[in-house]
Amino acid sequence: MKIPAFASTLRASMLGAAVITSFLLAAARPANAQRLSQTIIPEHYTLTLTPDLKAATFTGVESIEVNIKEPVSSITLNAAEIAFQSVTVTAAGKEQKAEVALDKDKEQATFTFGDKLPAGRATLSIHYTGILNNELRGFYLSKGDHRNYAVTQFEPTDARRAFPSFDEPAFKATFAVTLVVDRGDTAISNGPIVADTPGPGDEKHTLKFLTTPKMSSYLVAFLVGDFQCSAGESDGVAIRVCSTPDKVALTPYGVDVAKYVLNYYNNYFGIPYPLKKLDLIALPDFEAGAMENFGAITYRETDLLIDSKTASVNSKKQVALVIAHEMAHQWFGDLVTMQWWNNIWLNEGFATWMENKAVAAMHPEWNIDQMVTGDVNRTLDLDAQPTTRTIRAKADTPAEINQMFDGISYGKAGAVLLSVENYLGEETFRKGVHNYLSAHLYGNATAEDFWGAQTATSNKPVNKIMESLVIQPGEPVLTFSLPSDGKVSVTQKRFFLSPGIQPEPAQKWTLPVCFKTAENGENCQLLTHESSELKVPAGSFFFANARGKGYYRSSYPASVYAALVAGVETKLTPSERISLLGDEWAQVQANKATVGDYLNLVAAVKTDPNFEVVSNAVNGVGQIYQRVANTPEEKAAVSAWIRETFAPQLAKLGAASQSDSATTRELRAKLFDVLGNDGKDAAVIAQAQQIAKQYLADPASVDATMGHAALTIAAHNGDAALFDALQKVFETSTNPELQEGALRLLAQFQDPALLQRALDYSVSGMVRNQDAAIEFAVAMRSDETRDQAWKYIQNNWMKVQAQLTTEMGGVLVSSTGNFCSVSDRDQVQSFFATHKVDASSRALKHAIEHIDGCIEMRTLQEPNLKQWIATEGK
Ligand SMILES: [Zn+2]
Repeated sequence: MKIPAFASTLRASMLGAAVITSFLLAAARPANAQRLSQTIIPEHYTLTLTPDLKAATFTGVESIEVNIKEPVSSITLNAAEIAFQSVTVTAAGKEQKAEVALDKDKEQATFTFGDKLPAGRATLSIHYTGILNNELRGFYLSKGDHRNYAVTQFEPTDARRAFPSFDEPAFKATFAVTLVVDRGDTAISNGPIVADTPGPGDEKHTLKFLTTPKMSSYLVAFLVGDFQCSAGESDGVAIRVCSTPDKVALTPYGVDVAKYVLNYYNNYFGIPYPLKKLDLIALPDFEAGAMENFGAITYRETDLLIDSKTASVNSKKQVALVIAHEMAHQWFGDLVTMQWWNNIWLNEGFATWMENKAVAAMHPEWNIDQMVTGDVNRTLDLDAQPTTRTIRAKADTPAEINQMFDGISYGKAGAVLLSVENYLGEETFRKGVHNYLSAHLYGNATAEDFWGAQTATSNKPVNKIMESLVIQPGEPVLTFSLPSDGKVSVTQKRFFLSPGIQPEPAQKWTLPVCFKTAENGENCQLLTHESSELKVPAGSFFFANARGKGYYRSSYPASVYAALVAGVETKLTPSERISLLGDEWAQVQANKATVGDYLNLVAAVKTDPNFEVVSNAVNGVGQIYQRVANTPEEKAAVSAWIRETFAPQLAKLGAASQSDSATTRELRAKLFDVLGNDGKDAAVIAQAQQIAKQYLADPASVDATMGHAALTIAAHNGDAALFDALQKVFETSTNPELQEGALRLLAQFQDPALLQRALDYSVSGMVRNQDAAIEFAVAMRSDETRDQAWKYIQNNWMKVQAQLTTEMGGVLVSSTGNFCSVSDRDQVQSFFATHKVDASSRALKHAIEHIDGCIEMRTLQEPNLKQWIATEGK
């Protein structure tokens, strides 16, 4: 799966950390699970489903061929919200009817038979009915503008809502699917259609799909409606990108990306894509960002559909990354699957790491490696919180399993793989991946299988490295001495952002440390529990995270750090600058450096031509503005510094031109954004209002990357006319990028009357449940809108809550983590104590932790800010 696009866009924003962190930790469902017995092994499912889109129900006829390992008188499998009409079993030539008992809490059905079933093969025949629910999981109703669709989302534990099944990832089986649909509709499933016959009756036709290879139940998909597609082909595989008919013009970009990526992965893995076709389908209602169903990947519309002529660079990147993520899963996840959900990181960490690799190869001009170092910084910040968890963690119930889809399974596991690849070298690591996959085709595997394959292939202690990162929580900070006599001594201890927390002294890592000296370039050495030295050539320049790919924080003696700042633009690569910025901002939060130190480093990279470097730098500046500065005078001083530092850089870039590179376009928009918002630059605000007007009147006449930045500034300072115009875009546009962008902007108007309109609008029924929390989360991010939004949420709780799906409840709860005072924290705590949001206890814990972190940072750093203002800030 992939998290929703709007959440990952928040990730890039200054105050997104709380939102994204808890969002990823949010979804938990109140049900108990019990693992199924290993006595009954499913081998093949034959499924015929007839959805009734008007009645929102479906009927199912199913047979499951099972292998019974020892005689049994009952069979238990998973089923939820299923009504059984009849169940029979045929074993050893004898058919008998079953008694059916349901256990709602365990989401199980038990079939009991009069006569014991002998060991050997048996076939279960099941007639049942189910509901097309509104909960965006199982077999559910997705509502387009003009009609309904019947679609599926099964990961992790919801296939059981569509068909009775042995719904655990290790019970791999083959699936022969038949869908009976209305005459004017089509259907998409994992395999290609092998027969399309009229009937039953005049109004239906019957679509039979090719039997799948062995796969897990959570990867099965059925999608019914009037989808239309663009088609292409890559390495002999038929590729389609599909949508509702009104949006099919936005599908060709996805076809181009998928064609490239399929060929790239075939070469990388050395294992050809295993199915005959690959469909990518955008769905109107979809809770996650995307889902890697084998051969039939489903997407939120904003994560797949794009007008490649007018889209912003950021949207193009996001769509390409999500496509590459889900396609990586076709190998990592679908072809080879984790044995159990405790190792979901094998899927998600790998897809997170791999998506970047494929898109970097397709678009070198996007500087994906720099984006990745920024992601590693954010992951290190998340993992430096006391409530972080280990990558591999116990997860037995659906509630526990759902909570595994978080920033640790994705971001940290991806960062760990990146650091190991960097240590082994790309080709050695690739061979290890190939060997691992080849050993488990159509099967299941564990963490040990993965690092065992890498250890055997490389002859290096990958098992030790990965164990220390996968089965213990948190991250190390490496503290280096002054280099002397050809060596540097290193101490390692667990790093926490909060200076009040004392790490357990015994915790140690086995880590590859790749460092850089000006004289001799790069060198990687293994730091073990016992070792405390690196051999380095003589000289004073020493940077401890070459390429910015290591999973640790670094702390240097003052003179070494001063040399790094002095050489930041000449001796470090852009990714290394981003890594250094992340280290320094972490040091500020941990009270080992001051906000003034950080601003000096930002000043040293202010002329950097790379969008990602400047963007990472100003993220910290934004936090100083929003979270450290506490009085109008302090904010004004930070604003003045922003103008002084960045206005000349924007002027140097000059007006936008057709020949600008992607990074120049994004850099200009970023400078515009920071100057117009936290910088309060009057000239930029006026210009933004101009550009916004032109962009709304004729989107093709303005570079979209700039258009989005201008609209954000214009909305902050906007009037009713602009609000009306944006609302119209939201209601009438068929372009998901523009539509969702407009919705998000509505919550950024600072005029209280307009903000009130935006908040009313979000609960008016005009906004899909999948997006309902967007406006609240956006309004909760900014100082100017937060108090009003929070009052609104409390005063209109019934209406707000009615809109929340499980995951969106988590988004809303975690948005309160943007507060920064004791009284607000206490109010958040007491409100949610009496207004429970399903499955959001972890989101609330993280929000409170984030508020406490802000209070602590403000207490410690506000005096430093005052002092900085008194001296350099003048
Ligand atoms: Zn995924």
